[in-house]
Amino acid sequence: MTSFDTPENAGHGALLTIDLDALVANWRMLRQRAGTEASAVVKANAYGIGIEPAVTALAKAGCKTFFVAHLSEAVRARAVAPEAAIYVLNGLFPESCAAFAEHELSPVLGSHAELLEWAGFRQSGARVRPAALHVDTAMNRLGLWPGEGLDLAREKSGVIAAAGIGLVMSHFAASEVADDPANARQVAAFAEIAAAFPGVPASLLNSSGHFLPGCPSYQLTRPGYALYGGNPTPGKPNPMRPVVGLEARVIQLREVEAGTQVGYNGTWTAKSRRRLATICLGYADGYPRNASWTDRSPGGSALVGGVRCPFVGTVSMDLIIVDVSDAPADAAMRGAPVTLIGGELDLEAVGAGARTIGYEILTSLGRRHVRRYLGL
Ligand SMILES: *Cc1c(COP(=O)(O)O)cnc(C)c1O
Repeated sequence: MTSFDTPENAGHGALLTIDLDALVANWRMLRQRAGTEASAVVKANAYGIGIEPAVTALAKAGCKTFFVAHLSEAVRARAVAPEAAIYVLNGLFPESCAAFAEHELSPVLGSHAELLEWAGFRQSGARVRPAALHVDTAMNRLGLWPGEGLDLAREKSGVIAAAGIGLVMSHFAASEVADDPANARQVAAFAEIAAAFPGVPASLLNSSGHFLPGCPSYQLTRPGYALYGGNPTPGKPNPMRPVVGLEARVIQLREVEAGTQVGYNGTWTAKSRRRLATICLGYADGYPRNASWTDRSPGGSALVGGVRCPFVGTVSMDLIIVDVSDAPADAAMRGAPVTLIGGELDLEAVGAGARTIGYEILTSLGRRHVRRYLGL
């Protein structure tokens, strides 16, 4: 029996399995490790796995705080988590205050313009949840300069009080590289900021931050990638449970002789007699075209009967060709599923095969797959 045997799955070429029990177990593990309250970062449709099922499962497990990137994502999270604190990392656009009030959302404020706008909105009598203040300690991307944050904290009566700040936060630039000296600099800069806002909860740790030695957890953590099974300690064994699995079916098999060119533009040439399988998944399903395997550069692979088999030629829109010469014959069969994500093909391995990172593999997971949720 293959996973494609049920009537609902039969019309689809690829099956994405999402294990919500593993998601919850990963969240609990990180919370335990940090020894403080853990939020969940669920931006980008919960890193591709589906914001509604992810937020529902985590809220049921006791997660009380969520972070998203956009207001639109926050509205979706609010629909399934009526009580939770929901922070919008991208903050306020001009005139979006009313929508924050309507859905009881919290902006992450990272500039004077946003602080003033939010403070003015509160002073006009609007009832809103506390906002967060983002201080940029390395990235030069979003947030106040550390010096600006310290100045504002010292002017006690000013805009900070008017804006109703309930959380002060910063974000690591390189926490997955444990020995990057930027980490210690950020930890020190943030310690100063957190101390300047006594009584205001603080938040620094993303997924990899949980594994940095000597880094305080503060009052709230913000894991994303590791919740979804990504390895927060690249190069070391992955402490997280896998959440996502992806399989696609074999459509056709063929034998090719040495010298045969395969795929668009004939970018791959068989060096000997090979057995090839064409599977029904391609870049339109979110699998990167950069995973193409040509005569000049290696690319991605699939697990066929547990054997790692390289792609050959370019990844097409709807199809990938796989060299199944080394796979067991009973696994490389018409209609059989092969594994694109799962087992040794974890998110890091898939990312490496496509010259990108596991984060991008996750957040590109296609909408054409049938999705099967375990632990709903
Ligand atoms: C995305 C994001 C996170 C989560 O980071 P991970 O590396 O996925 O754990 C935390 N904080 C901020 C500000 C983010 O943008």
